[in-house]
Amino acid sequence: MRRAVVVVLDGMRRDLIDVPTTPALVRFARGAMSFAAHRSMFPSATRVVSASFATGCHPARHELQGNTLALLENGRLVYHDAGHPDFLQHKRRATGRSLAVPTLAERLAPHGGMIMFSNVSPGAAFAHDPDGHGYIYHRAGSFAPGRKRIEGVQALDIAQDAAGERRMTERFVSEVLVDRRPPLAIIWMGEPDATQHLRPLGSPEHLAVLRQADTNAARVVEAVGRLRDKGDEVLLIVCSDHGHQTVSRIVDVEAELMAAGLKESRESGDVVTPTSGTSTLVYVHPDHAARIDAIGAFLASRDWIDKVVPPAELATVGQAPHHGLAFAVSLKSDDAPNPFGVRGHSYESKPVAGKATHLHCGQHGGLAKYEQMPFLMIDGESFTAGSVSHTPTSPIDLAPTILAHLQLPAEGMDGRRLQLP
Ligand SMILES: [Zn+2]
Repeated sequence: MRRAVVVVLDGMRRDLIDVPTTPALVRFARGAMSFAAHRSMFPSATRVVSASFATGCHPARHELQGNTLALLENGRLVYHDAGHPDFLQHKRRATGRSLAVPTLAERLAPHGGMIMFSNVSPGAAFAHDPDGHGYIYHRAGSFAPGRKRIEGVQALDIAQDAAGERRMTERFVSEVLVDRRPPLAIIWMGEPDATQHLRPLGSPEHLAVLRQADTNAARVVEAVGRLRDKGDEVLLIVCSDHGHQTVSRIVDVEAELMAAGLKESRESGDVVTPTSGTSTLVYVHPDHAARIDAIGAFLASRDWIDKVVPPAELATVGQAPHHGLAFAVSLKSDDAPNPFGVRGHSYESKPVAGKATHLHCGQHGGLAKYEQMPFLMIDGESFTAGSVSHTPTSPIDLAPTILAHLQLPAEGMDGRRLQLP
């Protein structure tokens, strides 16, 4: 049987994969092809990467534009948190569609389907299958095809901690890989991302969670070895969705625009600035489009910004001017080491009231070097064991690669298959 298995270690930086902390990944790389120029999406944020992975398309096409974002609803710009379990259900009701292009779950439904276990935000998990074509298991709710809720012991009732990640991994191996055997099985771990947001990168607590993530990945890798021994032709992808930077300053982008007279108030719908960690999207209501030039000039003159992508250039970062999106902003970064010797700082955008910031700890979302340094290793047919590819790749290439292994068409995707010709 031809099958694909994907392991995602959320937030794992490529440059932190090393023998002392991640021996299993180093060992796995010797038998896999590694992608040394692999990048994240923009924003480099889990919900955006999830939708891009699921569809093989940029945010310009799938329309999940940021971890938080705005939608034009009944003539008003409305802020949304895409991590909310109901976000894509709401988007379907408000705009007529959840994601704007088909997911892997939908494409695989007539061919044996997909099963996913996830321990990240509910919105990121459900972005893999908002319309209910496959199986998604998450602590906020587990769903069978038709979005039928899975109840009781069959649901995935785990915590976002070490014990929860381990239980999820063991159940994924025994139930999904060995017993149920879908053509596509995905496990998306919440670590090391969750701990990186709360502890300094390189600290003892952080290194401990890298080891834990490495051990869980090894459990799946070993299980895939046993499936191959029994004759399955498995494509095994082990990767992360983005890296992290150390936060060196918090910037209140909304307050800056208000102080410059470019946004009326916190609550006003003229300009809305949803954040994705170290980046911000700036939406301008069509009634206030005359303000776009002034906002662009203001942003371009700020010392807390690395890059401002103007409306005409949104496609260069995979975005489009949907719902009044005018600017994509990646905040200031540097390459200096933190107190534990881990390189790369960024400024973090202050999120809406009640949401945490992460000064001196890890964050991501922008275009800086290390948040754009996820890892990707692929072991399977048409990948050379122990080799390193320098071809630029990103999460949109995973769906076409999986479909190619399953000998299914992948038309309509922005990404491309990574198998050697
Ligand atoms: Zn993530």
